[in-house]
Amino acid sequence: MTNYTFRKRLIALILLFLAGTTTTFAQVNANQDEEIQKMVSEISAQNLRALVEKMVSFETRHTLSTTTDKKRGIGAAREWVKSEFEKYAKASGGRMTVEMDRFVVKADGRRVPQDTEMANVIATLKGTDANDNRVIIVGGHLDSRATDVMDAKSKAPGANDDASGVAIVMEMARIMASRQFSGTLVFVAFQGEEQGLYGSRHLAERVKKEGWNLVAMQNNDIVGNSFSGETGLHDNTRVRVFSEGTPANETEEMTKLRRTLGSENDSPSRILARYMKMTGEAYVDQLEVVLGYRADRFLRGGDHTPFNQQGFAAVRMSEMNEDFDHQHQNVRMENGTQYGDLIEFMDFEYLRKNTAVNLATMASLGRAPYAPEAVTVITANLTNKTDLTWQAPAKGKKPAGYYVLMRETSSPVWEKKFFVKETKTTINYSKDNYFFAVQAVDAAGNASLPVIPVPAR
Ligand SMILES: [Zn+2]
Repeated sequence: MTNYTFRKRLIALILLFLAGTTTTFAQVNANQDEEIQKMVSEISAQNLRALVEKMVSFETRHTLSTTTDKKRGIGAAREWVKSEFEKYAKASGGRMTVEMDRFVVKADGRRVPQDTEMANVIATLKGTDANDNRVIIVGGHLDSRATDVMDAKSKAPGANDDASGVAIVMEMARIMASRQFSGTLVFVAFQGEEQGLYGSRHLAERVKKEGWNLVAMQNNDIVGNSFSGETGLHDNTRVRVFSEGTPANETEEMTKLRRTLGSENDSPSRILARYMKMTGEAYVDQLEVVLGYRADRFLRGGDHTPFNQQGFAAVRMSEMNEDFDHQHQNVRMENGTQYGDLIEFMDFEYLRKNTAVNLATMASLGRAPYAPEAVTVITANLTNKTDLTWQAPAKGKKPAGYYVLMRETSSPVWEKKFFVKETKTTINYSKDNYFFAVQAVDAAGNASLPVIPVPAR
């Protein structure tokens, strides 16, 4: 060790010590359910690679590519996804059903030159509790593109964008098909993302129209590369989850409440993102979930957006460092650089960990009780304590109890957790200085999404 690095480490140590004496942003993690641990351990980097290899073998999965060729193009690719889902469904005892949800997109004068039939491939694992109508969606997009977004002929392997996301969805469906969840789990390979989020918009509108009780939507797009070409950074220990701040469908009344509570970091989507961090980091070693406080990256959109627009909690997972030489690029050599979204630039151990975060989140939500209702913080008196009340959920399984979560108003993560059996409690910390939320929890420790209390006298 050089003198310089020694001094640097010493300073870092001192800073760490000082930080320890004041505020730390240590997160309280979710509990672990043995069954979910087991599912997480079954995720295989090798399987994920085989899934991505198969998707790349269709040469292009461009939305406007052939639907009649048996080996090439989007038609063959989506038939293959469907047949794989059907294989997994055999282990579900009839609970998993598979559909090709077809729809026609009219020529839009932009990225869809003529009326085009598209299809989302959907596997639905029905919940085991007939009284539980909650739905959780996990998705990725099957379509791919080359440099020119209208080029449906050139090779567009789309290994990372977004065979990686679809591989997550498929590996989860395989493992979860035989397991029990009281809520319903929906696994989707979207089409039409690159042409304008057509598949996700179609499903989000259907969810709204049919009145699904959708509690969470997890979008996975560009999740399997851990190397940034420009900066040379290698990092497979962090992954980003983007969430919108103010909800796309915020009403005047919601704005008023947000301003009173100071809850700009507690939109439904951000609550979900924080839940993913708390759950993912409990179940997955060597991975930090980085909360991205924006709806998406610059110049980019994703399949979570139409769900946000319909008022649902929806987030996007993306790798920490993107490699733009290997996204949206024709496969070619140029000045000694290989361009194109090729499998050789992917990191399947990283993809395995990202799958695990998704699986742990979906499984926990699917097994948890419904969230508590009418969560209230009593503001009748000026006190330095916090009185909270709520009601047991009217539907679903009976909770074993509740977690009251607490964090400083400037903290991005939940920092303290109190277990409560009753439906009210007094916390010995001031409501003025902390944010609170309440989760319903089952005996195995699976907790619902946190609910932010509304003030009442
Ligand atoms: Zn994408």
